[in-house]
Amino acid sequence: MDSPGVDVVVAGAGPAGSMAARMLARAGLRVVLCDKATFPRDKTCGDALIPDSIAALRFAGAWDGVAERARALDLLEVLSPRGIAVPIRGEYRVVRRRVFDEVLFNGALQAGAEFRQASVKRPIEDPAGHVAGIVVERSGREEEIRAPLTVLATGAEGAILKKFDASARTTASGYAIRTYAVHASPGRASDRLFISLERDLLPGYAWAFPGPENIFNIGVFWASARRGRRLNLRAALDRLMSGNGNLGEMLGPMKPTSLGDGYAGAMLRTGLTGSSLGRRGLAIIGDAAGTTYSISGEGIGKAMESGLVVAELAVGSRDLPQVGCLYKAEMQQRYARRFRAYRSAERWMRLSILADLVAYRANRSPTILRHLTSVVTEDSLSGDVFSLKGFWALLTR
Ligand SMILES: Cc1cc2nc3c(=O)[nH]c(=O)nc-3n(C[C@H](O)[C@H](O)[C@H](O)COP(=O)(O)OP(=O)(O)OC[C@H]3O[C@@H](n4cnc5c(N)ncnc54)[C@H](O)[C@@H]3O)c2cc1C
Repeated sequence: MDSPGVDVVVAGAGPAGSMAARMLARAGLRVVLCDKATFPRDKTCGDALIPDSIAALRFAGAWDGVAERARALDLLEVLSPRGIAVPIRGEYRVVRRRVFDEVLFNGALQAGAEFRQASVKRPIEDPAGHVAGIVVERSGREEEIRAPLTVLATGAEGAILKKFDASARTTASGYAIRTYAVHASPGRASDRLFISLERDLLPGYAWAFPGPENIFNIGVFWASARRGRRLNLRAALDRLMSGNGNLGEMLGPMKPTSLGDGYAGAMLRTGLTGSSLGRRGLAIIGDAAGTTYSISGEGIGKAMESGLVVAELAVGSRDLPQVGCLYKAEMQQRYARRFRAYRSAERWMRLSILADLVAYRANRSPTILRHLTSVVTEDSLSGDVFSLKGFWALLTR
């Protein structure tokens, strides 16, 4: 089917795609939003919203719908490999992705985007090789959706990305596994998010994020950057659930719940690497573009921000295909330095002694604690902290 009236087709209705569709449709552009799933649908995640996510939601006018369904917390406790706790104060929320993504998806439809449930198969390319829309499969039949601008927001899986971007990397930057659990002994509660840099997981970590009804999203993230080393994530999560490791000892044994189909794992694409970000007629946003931070694995905020960036460039544009090229340049200009800093932090954090030293110093110096807090709250550029000079300053200040 031809779609003569469509300005932008957005492929993928996760946080990145729904945010882009919302802002584009709200500005009066004719938007088709495609996803292979029907909503609500789950997405394997830690369910934590850190300050960048909250800021993006507020900016887009999507905050109230999320806030009323999320658990509010104001403390993230990071444990070093030796178990030294660093308290990072800030505004956080924990909300199940099944709920969160549906709120954003509905917001895009309310703003005027038209939804098509269909699986995206490949791009339509004009004779010059520029993207001119997508081919989708619906009920066993292929259809074309033509548009001057295609926004690819299909998440971390590499196969579909590769069809749009021949140079894209299909391997994962990391893997994570999560489950939903409650304390085995009743009456215990938690008022904070935990991230624990367990020695055998470095440069990854274990997490426990208490959500609504005091049900924890609990999991293990492993940045597979260490070549030749394999890790059984399921066994690592078993250990955490049975109360072992720094975080396990702090939480005590946990009991699984029926939420979220038991253990679920997924790959991550991090570091703003692995895709070309865009070209004429195409903008690649969210996890497809690697907008999840290395080391922290937090990606919802920057996925939404990338949706905001493409919408900002497209609204009012007289040359929608060109937005793909402008978007690529804008993303690099706004974010390359920050993502480079996180990639470098991931390399440093393989050294457990360094993580312990930073945690030790943060407990003795309010200045260092303030610096670390400002990285999470994004009041300062993490590059200043995660450089060699920055680490030296952290240890000596
Ligand atoms: C285990 C785990 C824990 C995490 N924890 C956190 C956390 O606590 N906080 C945080 O900020 N980030 C976390 N992240 C990262 C976060 O999940 C991602 O950064 C975020 O989901 C990216 O959003 P997105 O819209 O780019 O992609 P997605 O959320 O993956 O959405 C992609 C959408 O595209 C659709 N799609 C895919 N292929 C096709 C196709 N061929 N045709 C049609 N539709 C298609 C999918 O159905 C999906 O709806 C975690 C990741 C993992 C794996």
